[in-house]
Amino acid sequence: MPLKRIVIKVGSHVLTEDGAIAKVRMLSLVELTVALKRDRYEVILVSSGAVAAGFTQLPLDRSSVANKQALAAIGQPLLLKMYQEKFAMFGILCSQVLFRSDVFESKKHINHAKVAIDTLLENNVVPIINENDTVSIEELVFGDNDRLSAHVTHHFDAELLVILSDIDAFYDKDPNKYDDAKRRAVVTEISKEELEAEHSPNNDFATGGIVTKLQSAEFLMKHNREMFLASGFDLSDVKAFLVDGKHVGGTYFKRK
Ligand code: ADP
Repeated sequence: MPLKRIVIKVGSHVLTEDGAIAKVRMLSLVELTVALKRDRYEVILVSSGAVAAGFTQLPLDRSSVANKQALAAIGQPLLLKMYQEKFAMFGILCSQVLFRSDVFESKKHINHAKVAIDTLLENNVVPIINENDTVSIEELVFGDNDRLSAHVTHHFDAELLVILSDIDAFYDKDPNKYDDAKRRAVVTEISKEELEAEHSPNNDFATGGIVTKLQSAEFLMKHNREMFLASGFDLSDVKAFLVDGKHVGGTYFKRK
């Protein structure tokens, strides 16, 4: 059976707890990645968390973009060190791939990057992608890697993007505000109003909210790819979906 290439994106909120990197959750993500690799998947990670990791070392005011750039520079090597230690427990190498936000505007740069990603995967190495937030601030300001991970999925030829969020699915309205919000299990079409709604990030570190996730889903479905949005706090839904082929929780953005 051919390997199925997927991208897993983990948001800042999931990777952060009380202003520090949530190590237990990071370990769960690494365990999931290892289990998927042993199954039939090639896994690319897109990980936020550099600013939060930097903040553990130097508590600069995060409301300034300049400070976030500096914190990302401090935190990115720390974040990767944590991943490396955790993957090493399973005898697996991981790697750091940093992109400027405009990398996907140039065919030449996309091709160079794809060669590197393919070579890492062929050698059983997990690529861990992040935006280079010190020099290119788009995702720092808006998007929190939702958009980046959609481009990674499309241009590096993955079938599915898994977004692990602080929310366990897409609802008909914001479940943090409305008790009667209903989960949308399968989505094949997203309305213009939903795509253009105001973005609504849920905490200090998150910058995307649900809208950037919907925009990513729309982009992927248009390009004949798919997306699965599930909780990054409890990985049972994503495990059921990917390992057991069972759709229990989460939202499946399915191509028609
Ligand atoms: P992350 O950092 O995990 O990527 P965000 O905070 O950026 O997550 O986005 C998820 C948040 O979007 C949820 O916690 C929720 O408050 C908000 N949200 C707004 N509308 C919806 C909706 N219709 N369905 C799900 N979440 C929604």
